[in-house]
Amino acid sequence: MKLSLNTQIFIGALLGVLAGWVIAAGKGSAAAEGGLYVAGLLGGLFVDLLKMVLVPLVFCAITVGVANLRAHRQMHRVWRLTLGFFVFSMALAMLLGMGAASLFEPGKGMSLDALQGGTASASPLTLPQFVEKFLRGLFVNPFTALAQGNVLAIVVFALFVGIALVAGGERYRNILQLLQEALELVLRIVGWVMRLAPLGIMALLTQLVATQDLTLFASLGTFVGVVVGSTLLHGVVVLPLILYLVTGMTPLRFWRGAREALLTAFATSSSSATLPVTVRCTEQHLHARPEIAGFVLPLGATLNMDGTALYEAVAALFVANLVALELNLMQQGVVFATAMLAAIGAPGIPSAGMVTLVMVLQSVGLPAEAIALLLPIDRPLDAIRTVVNVEGDMVGSLVVQKWLADKEE
Ligand code: ASP
Repeated sequence: MKLSLNTQIFIGALLGVLAGWVIAAGKGSAAAEGGLYVAGLLGGLFVDLLKMVLVPLVFCAITVGVANLRAHRQMHRVWRLTLGFFVFSMALAMLLGMGAASLFEPGKGMSLDALQGGTASASPLTLPQFVEKFLRGLFVNPFTALAQGNVLAIVVFALFVGIALVAGGERYRNILQLLQEALELVLRIVGWVMRLAPLGIMALLTQLVATQDLTLFASLGTFVGVVVGSTLLHGVVVLPLILYLVTGMTPLRFWRGAREALLTAFATSSSSATLPVTVRCTEQHLHARPEIAGFVLPLGATLNMDGTALYEAVAALFVANLVALELNLMQQGVVFATAMLAAIGAPGIPSAGMVTLVMVLQSVGLPAEAIALLLPIDRPLDAIRTVVNVEGDMVGSLVVQKWLADKEE
């Protein structure tokens, strides 16, 4: 009997968690160290493979997506609907998180001492500095951007190329065809990489479970509970509900199609590294049109982060409680707005949200040193929020596709 890839990945994930526990239990022994080394190496190689296909994939998917959309005279609508959906779903996520945080008040009564003695590893940025840094990062020499794997800058350049291809029409037919074939080629390679996913995900989860200090995780109980609970609520109830209401797709059908991508997101903690898998699942399993998914997903991987927005907002309220600062409605509004900007500005890489969190804290005068308290427990929280970030992108492309179809009728 041949197991489906989905089943293999699932078994790999379970074995990974088990192996992680075993290694954590045998900490210090030569066998455990050896196991951890192998898991680190294999997991690292799997992520390398995903990153290898990421840059050509983003570039080809966006240019081809834009070129095909323009041909249908839909471009301006897709833009509006996509960005509208991103803002809407991130706002919902943050409202959920902030609502839960004001209900359970994580951090109330905890001692401020925990903040002292630690140093923040992230360099503090004020809001204007952050906005400037974000804007100045948009237009980059394409070769530098491609070589550095700077996804946002690649997306921007690919948008220009896509639009120029359309403006030039027939004249650039060959280039467009070349890019179309390149995209197919890259997706074929993604298919090969995915065959290694069961092993890669197993190794990554082994490493995650074996190296996590769970006692620390538990000591920040209410905060972790609020973050995990509201993130899951958003991912398990809100997003599937939106999807169902707009497209009629049942949550079960969605999860079945999205599973490979969601597990990869959990194991890698990176929306960008997961993107090749996200595109594959959305187009092949969930049957999104390539020109829509090819546009919405790469853009979403860097801009649309429901889980990160939620996390940043809740973390700011948590830190405010820790230092016994009552945030008034206006300040909560500032947290809301900066948390959304921080999520948009965070690249889709592990713990990126931690770095941009500094800006949210500073926007209402909270100590950036609080990062020292949050960093050690970030790995598992990052895994969970990345799953919801990726889920939001997939739901987004299906919703945008349906909205477009409705308007065409
Ligand atoms: N790791 C997240 C992602 O790639 C970003 C974050 O740190 O919140 O989506």
